[in-house]
Amino acid sequence: MTRTDIRVEQTQHSRLADVDFDNLVFGKVLSDHMLVADYHDGVWGDVSIVPYGNISISPSMSALHYGQSIFEGIKAYKFEDGTVSIFRPDKNWERFNKSATRLQMPEVPQEIFIDGLKQLLSIDQNWVPNKNGSSLYIRPFMFATEAALGVHPSISYKFIIITGPVGAYYSKPISLKVETEYTRAADGGVGFSKNAGNYALALYPTELAHKQGYDQVMWTDAREHKYIEEAGTANLIFRIGDTIITPHGDTILHGVTRRTIIELADAWGLKTEQRKVSVDELIQGIESGQVSEAFAAGTAATITHISRIGFNGRDYELPAVETREFSLKVLDYLNDLRYGRIEDSFGWNF
Ligand code: PMP
Repeated sequence: MTRTDIRVEQTQHSRLADVDFDNLVFGKVLSDHMLVADYHDGVWGDVSIVPYGNISISPSMSALHYGQSIFEGIKAYKFEDGTVSIFRPDKNWERFNKSATRLQMPEVPQEIFIDGLKQLLSIDQNWVPNKNGSSLYIRPFMFATEAALGVHPSISYKFIIITGPVGAYYSKPISLKVETEYTRAADGGVGFSKNAGNYALALYPTELAHKQGYDQVMWTDAREHKYIEEAGTANLIFRIGDTIITPHGDTILHGVTRRTIIELADAWGLKTEQRKVSVDELIQGIESGQVSEAFAAGTAATITHISRIGFNGRDYELPAVETREFSLKVLDYLNDLRYGRIEDSFGWNF
């Protein structure tokens, strides 16, 4: 498939002039166009870029009943000279196809996911905000469309990319509750995949954590609730002693931000470890002063500092944000890179 195979239908009524770029609520403002592709009987076809709008579905559509539904989250940034740059979409494409395979869904080829995204953004480039801190959020997703009740892999799927401008995300430091009752993912399960069900199952425990005064839960392993996994929609990274440490394994989502930060730390000559981190190690490290930094890493905010961790009815406070050399340096570096202010020596900007 080549670029020209994508049919384009431009909107006659752009909504761009109505957008208040100074007051963007995440996920509420969607750009003029979307990319849509349909899969049927083993073949992707009918790839088109069309005006953003409602789609029609059958009440017996299998995604609604049996949950074959996956997604991704990516951001694009605008340089001062107007260049639009997407941050590492190749990694999201790879992760998307891993999710697809685990849920018995078809892979989406690069020509549709990456080249289609590039073409979509060239059409909606005026939707990419040009203010520092702002970006265009990109949401590719796929779901099973076969209209049939009965548990089996769907024979048809829809892949869609929608996008929307988002404002600067000045994330306040957050508090996390170590979750020792509910479980997000078990060995052999679907924790590494970005499927819709992983988010639905988190809502109830997260609501309980809110009621107890915490912003999010810190998931732990399913077997013993002893090892740290990740936070609601972000991975966890700690600086313990002089080492940058992040939990590892197939029960967590392998974040593009997490990977980027570890690669940066490696390039800067810091010691890094991807391994099991026990709750005990973390708590003892906080008490002894060995844990100097703790943060959540994800596409939404890049870095969200953790200020407090609740475990077994006690709260543990982390050092003041101003003292967190590594995470503050990472944030500055990635901002400069994504807005084209420094050389992209890693080749992360598309
Ligand atoms: N874990 C979960 C459960 C997430 O939803 C996300 C956000 N995609 C992440 C981690 C961070 O991944 P990324 O850095 O690719 O955004």
